[in-house]
Amino acid sequence: MPPGRGPHSRNASVPSVHTMRTPHIALLATGGTIAGTAGSATDTSGYAAGQLGAEALIAAVPPLAALARLSAEQLFNLDSKDMGPPHWLALARRVQALADDPAVDGIVITHGTDTLEETAYFLHITVSAAKPVVMTAAMRPATALSADGPLNLYQAVALACRPAAGRAGVLAVLGDRILPAAAIAKRHPSAVDAFSREGALTTLASDAALHALAPARNSRVALPPGLQMLPPVELLAVAAGSSPALVRALAGASLAGAVAGVVVALPGNASLPDAWLPALNELPDSVPLVLASRCGGGISRHRADAPGHWLDAGALDPLKARVRLIAGLGADLRGARLRRWFERG
Ligand code: ASP
Repeated sequence: MPPGRGPHSRNASVPSVHTMRTPHIALLATGGTIAGTAGSATDTSGYAAGQLGAEALIAAVPPLAALARLSAEQLFNLDSKDMGPPHWLALARRVQALADDPAVDGIVITHGTDTLEETAYFLHITVSAAKPVVMTAAMRPATALSADGPLNLYQAVALACRPAAGRAGVLAVLGDRILPAAAIAKRHPSAVDAFSREGALTTLASDAALHALAPARNSRVALPPGLQMLPPVELLAVAAGSSPALVRALAGASLAGAVAGVVVALPGNASLPDAWLPALNELPDSVPLVLASRCGGGISRHRADAPGHWLDAGALDPLKARVRLIAGLGADLRGARLRRWFERG
């Protein structure tokens, strides 16, 4: 063996860890249980979400210093039950600014688990980023024995340091799993393992597996820079035998401009009960109506004879269908353009 070619020698063409630049990860903190505190270490339910600041979250995970140079911003400090379109818009603008900043290598967002799937999907379809955007959260407050937040944060930052994650759109890291935005679904109110495993990768996933998550081309919309407020879109659910009285109330509100779109969560293959049809027909044509399946999986298709302003949620569950309609209307897509973009989801 030639000198310097032994098993422990370095190949000069591969940069060593010491010559690589430490990634700069921007942490945006928005609250949630990951920043929550309780009066005792054994209390995992009687706590207040959104109490600790971004710097405290970082300080609780000393090994982060070996992964990345972190800058922290506190955007909000909320229980995510109180987040909605105004927060999504502010967050999307900040994430876009960081995505466009060449000094930033990746973005990590801490958030509550309750509405994580809605915020993540909104960012996924409105932010154009070639670098990793990774959300994380926790089910146990920061003060709990075996709190899940610190390791989730560590794994989220580790993923944000991998350029291959930048091709996959918005991701979430929870409990050793990577979830693509379209697959994030909270399925348990209190268990630590609260999120659906469907569509998940492990945090040990290869770069090739991350590349395979790349979102479909043209699945994003650009929100106008001057947009002040996202349009109001309501979600109704059909239960067996429930009355369509709320649809009639929404039809009235939409005529007054208070509702710009409606999503209905329907049984099975987005099947419309006969009693609901006349009420849905009272919604003005200017108000798009999305028919979604409440099954939580699969692809639904509604009737072929539906009016032109009725849209299929397809593979989107009712929550994500609402987010997509809000984003599409916010980007001023109407009529056939809205339909084309919507059905690409
Ligand atoms: N209520 C909390 C929130 O969504 C729950 C959590 O973060 O786990 O902010």
